[in-house]
Amino acid sequence: MNRVIAVDGPAASGKSSTAAAVARRLGFLHVDSGALYRGATTVALDLGESASADDIITAAELRGLGFRVVGDAVVLYLDDSPLGERLRDADVTGGVSAVSALPGVRRWVNRSLRALATPDRTLVVDGRDIGTAVFPDAPLKVFLDAAPEVRARRRLIQRDPALEDLGPATVSAEADRLRRRDEADASRTADPLKPAHDAIRIDTANLTFEEQVDMILELIKDAALHLGPSAG
Ligand code: C5P
Repeated sequence: MNRVIAVDGPAASGKSSTAAAVARRLGFLHVDSGALYRGATTVALDLGESASADDIITAAELRGLGFRVVGDAVVLYLDDSPLGERLRDADVTGGVSAVSALPGVRRWVNRSLRALATPDRTLVVDGRDIGTAVFPDAPLKVFLDAAPEVRARRRLIQRDPALEDLGPATVSAEADRLRRRDEADASRTADPLKPAHDAIRIDTANLTFEEQVDMILELIKDAALHLGPSAG
């Protein structure tokens, strides 16, 4: 049994910020698996349109794409620098579903994620397939979800807290973008987005961020036997 808390869910379901807050509260390491797919996508974009999974992986390895544990954070590096905001650029977000659908890329990412799970660490890993494919034996699996409009609204406010035009047209355009990405992630053959059969599903539509975090902290308390320092 590993010491992994799997937090899966569709785009903009709040997985990453929730997983980060949970990890911070408990002194665990947060791993944002989507960042590695986004990193692979930046490498693919640099290579150009016809890059295969093998090309992407070879270039990614040559350029040192990978997570490093820096203090209490897990940071994605490329070319010896943290990747940071580049990961959120529109070309990366637009291209990531296609790159993450390549089985070879997924195998490479999965190996990198599993390598982080050493016996001395507890990880909170967020993604789409953490509970189904990457760590199917994780002692706690959570699947966060909410209607696309709810997620769209949160995503828009998160991107620009001063945003004034949060009218139905803006929200529905963002919700459509999220739906398209969910559809691409859920319909791919390799490790599609779906809740694990033993995941605890949480609809976050009527929860505040703090409530969402507290709910997971409670679930972790119940699973403490497998996550505590005495676990092997
Ligand atoms: O979580 P985030 O939105 O940053 O993920 C970006 C993309 O990476 C997703 O839309 C999906 O295509 C891919 N992804 C994945 N499996 C994961 C995490 C992310 O396929 N475990």
